[in-house]
Amino acid sequence: MTKCPFSFLRLACLSWCVSQFVSLSGFSQSKTSDITPYERNTNQTATYTQIISWYQQLDRQYEQCKLIEIGKTDIGKPLHLVLLASDKQFVARPDRVTLLINNGIHPGEPEGIDACMMLARDLLKANKLPKNVLIAIVPVYNVGGSLNRGISRVNQNGPESYGFRGNARNLNLNRDFIKAEAENTRAFQAMYQSLKPHVFVDNHTSDGADYQHVLTYFATQKDKLQPIVSGYMTQRFQPELDKMLTEKGFPSAPYVNHAGDTPESGLVGYNDTPRYSTGYAALFNCFGFTLETHMWKPYPARVKASYVFDEAVMQLCEREAQKILANKQRANEAVRQQKTFPLGYKLDRSKSDSVTFLGYAAMYKPSEVSGLKRLYYDRTKPFTKRVPYWNNFSIDTQVDKPRAYVIPQAWQEVIGEIKRNGVAVKTLPKDTLMTVSAYYITDYKSPQRPYEGHYLHSGVKVRTETQRIQFYKGDYLVYTNQSANRYIVETLEPQGVDSFFAWNFFDSILDQKEYFSNYIFEDTAAELIKNDPSLRKQLEEKRATDKAFAENADAQLDFIYRQTPYYEKTHNRYPAYRLN
Ligand SMILES: [Zn+2]
Repeated sequence: MTKCPFSFLRLACLSWCVSQFVSLSGFSQSKTSDITPYERNTNQTATYTQIISWYQQLDRQYEQCKLIEIGKTDIGKPLHLVLLASDKQFVARPDRVTLLINNGIHPGEPEGIDACMMLARDLLKANKLPKNVLIAIVPVYNVGGSLNRGISRVNQNGPESYGFRGNARNLNLNRDFIKAEAENTRAFQAMYQSLKPHVFVDNHTSDGADYQHVLTYFATQKDKLQPIVSGYMTQRFQPELDKMLTEKGFPSAPYVNHAGDTPESGLVGYNDTPRYSTGYAALFNCFGFTLETHMWKPYPARVKASYVFDEAVMQLCEREAQKILANKQRANEAVRQQKTFPLGYKLDRSKSDSVTFLGYAAMYKPSEVSGLKRLYYDRTKPFTKRVPYWNNFSIDTQVDKPRAYVIPQAWQEVIGEIKRNGVAVKTLPKDTLMTVSAYYITDYKSPQRPYEGHYLHSGVKVRTETQRIQFYKGDYLVYTNQSANRYIVETLEPQGVDSFFAWNFFDSILDQKEYFSNYIFEDTAAELIKNDPSLRKQLEEKRATDKAFAENADAQLDFIYRQTPYYEKTHNRYPAYRLN
């Protein structure tokens, strides 16, 4: 029986161990082979069953490898984690860097799955595991998508078949790291908070333009990352990583998100907000890389590139361990003390750098389908050029943290999210009347159609009121003196781009519950403006400046109703209150 490495999660451990027993019996003990399914046929990627059997075999063969279950996935099958530790101590420790590598979040982009199977074997077989690094590998994250195998990526050059992007409930798991609707995400978050990784890699495959690079990647957006960690990542880790990748035959470029029609127009940095894996990691001062191998290169070249990338990151973690550990500790302390928190960023187009780009000439010719002009990349015309790179983001909105947020226990879903993400909460020991600062949501936009199952709010505007509010025994206090402060503030401030408000956790406050009957309220309203000259003046002023309002009797009654004590205080009042 595999021992759960997170000893402080005893309950979870018990359930993992129990479910592990169930799962082990579910896989046939395939014949021992040293060769992965991909190595037997390099246009094949391992199936879910093959992936898990492979790691079960490594777990049996090597004491330095542990395969554990860390929870369920939406399809009902467990989520697995592989731990590799040279000293067989499968725990996160303050004297050792934890490197987390995620595979198959988009199972149609499976290079990392096959690369990590080989990398784990090679490290174990040669007894070459790093001394200063605990390696944690999610063998395949989107299990439901992995089981839904077929061909769904028309612009991809192999493998022969592969899993699907959506998970068992058709969610893109790489947008789920805040709303955490998938069981996969919940299991991931609990594991993440136990391991608290320092460095994170998410393995993907690109879409889009054609160019010479087999390997591109985006690092956690530097301006969003805590400055100590960001400075280290951009000035030390990335230059070293890029040098190693070039030496190993895979010169990299930033993820190709081009400014104009083609990459020659310049590249634009990726704003990986907290809904993305690296954006989520950034909330906890962990820097990360989303590797994107080029979809139109032969599959073996892409697998090799993923292997080289993951191995290089691991080697750098080993070499730089002391600096990485010290930086994260300093960053955590700085975040505990930090007063002002950005809630959103926008691209600053006034400043650009440049990068070397290995492209193919972009050309145009008439389309055989439409007869209209079509784009193509001419592989006989490779070029090496410096192209502009816009990767500076400036703060859009920011806020001073309160001393604590007070959240009534009615909002259990939000409390559940907060607790799972390593945030310490306290509860009120008795019913308490408190003076707090309350937000009223005064405006927001929502799309016409759902995005990832939600009508995601944006452009949120608020006004603030100081109020005396009755709270009850068991309501929650979330203090902002924690290393998880960024998670706390960015999810609980309604203007956060990926806040719980944005993701519809608080939509019920946007409903008005009581109204008035016009014909009865007409007389009350008339009485009110007779006795209140200032209210009458406000009404007249609004009529004078707003023609539609002047012609709408109902709107005028509503205008008066909202000034009366009858109008409910809770309408649009945001229920994570600020205690200052
Ligand atoms: Zn992807």
